Amino acid sequence: MLGRCSIVVDEFEFIERIKQRAYQQSSLIKGIGDDAAIFRAHGYDIVTAVDTFVDQVHFTTKTASPFHIGYRALGANISDIAAMGAEPKFYLVSMVIPSTMQQDALLSMYDGMKQLASRYKMDLIGGDTVSGKELVVSITVIGYIQPCKARYRSDATEEDIVFVTGTLGDSAAGLYILLNELDVSHRDYFIHRHQMPNPRVEFAHGLKKLDRVCLNDVTDGVANELREIAEASDVTITINDESIPIHHGLRQFSSTNQHRWKYFGGEDFELIGTVSSWNWPTLQHIAKKVNIKVTKIGMVQPKVNNKAEVLLNKAGTTSVLQKEGYTHLK
Ligand code: ADP
Ligand code: MG
Repeated sequence: MLGRCSIVVDEFEFIERIKQRAYQQSSLIKGIGDDAAIFRAHGYDIVTAVDTFVDQVHFTTKTASPFHIGYRALGANISDIAAMGAEPKFYLVSMVIPSTMQQDALLSMYDGMKQLASRYKMDLIGGDTVSGKELVVSITVIGYIQPCKARYRSDATEEDIVFVTGTLGDSAAGLYILLNELDVSHRDYFIHRHQMPNPRVEFAHGLKKLDRVCLNDVTDGVANELREIAEASDVTITINDESIPIHHGLRQFSSTNQHRWKYFGGEDFELIGTVSSWNWPTLQHIAKKVNIKVTKIGMVQPKVNNKAEVLLNKAGTTSVLQKEGYTHLK
């Protein structure tokens, strides 16, 4: 249903244009075109997540083209599905469209989503279109996982190894470069990491042979994600500053920025988690097979001072790593 105020986009033509000509998922029974979509999953648990992106809060036209807005919004959702250990299959898109928005820009947003979706053979199976004051994109993703194989943040255990994929702080550096229009080395790399993040689906899925892995994705910065794991699992997590994987280009920025970005700069959409030291070699092997860097950054230990928190060893001292990532309701 479209709202009553005038809009440059014709809803029916628009839905016709974004609709896939063919679907890739054989479990889909009904896609776009009726009151709701239907799929039939045999022998899988269904994993769902939704994320909403608001103009001026999650993106600005200065730092993201419509294509990148779509790409990143879907990427963030897929990353949540990956962090559960599941495989993304379908997505639905709910849009609030301002009257100033041109159809080309809207279509380009869908192009961004479709480019990423096609990598995972995901199908666009529905959504909603309304008009309003500012652009809002809300995406719901549906994934499948083998029963009892979901990866919870409450599954960390004492003496586990703490690991993270890829490098941290890249997205925050990219955003900083865009906002300040900087001409620095590795500029394109950092901007690319910000605009077109790579959810770690293959790696997460590859972990299915392991009995227990604790997983989170890095949306709000490592400090926040590790705190969530520590609290949910009722343990203390200690990480070592010199082990945190960063891209060498990050060293050109001030040490304050490096520190802020690697611990509190979110949206790298890497995976962070814990695994038994027994299974660590297998996890490294899986990462190698899917061509993803994985680094040991610390250990899980019993609660220190009866607090489930995150401790950071840096330059010979240990301090509590507070959570300072972005929270909307503060
Ligand atoms: P209804 O009035 O029954 O809610 P709509 O006219 O809103 O139906 O939508 C018609 C079809 O188009 C439905 O299958 C819906 O899921 C799909 N759809 C509507 N808006 C979008 C959108 N922004 N993105 C993807 N699919 C959409
Ligand atoms: Mg509708």
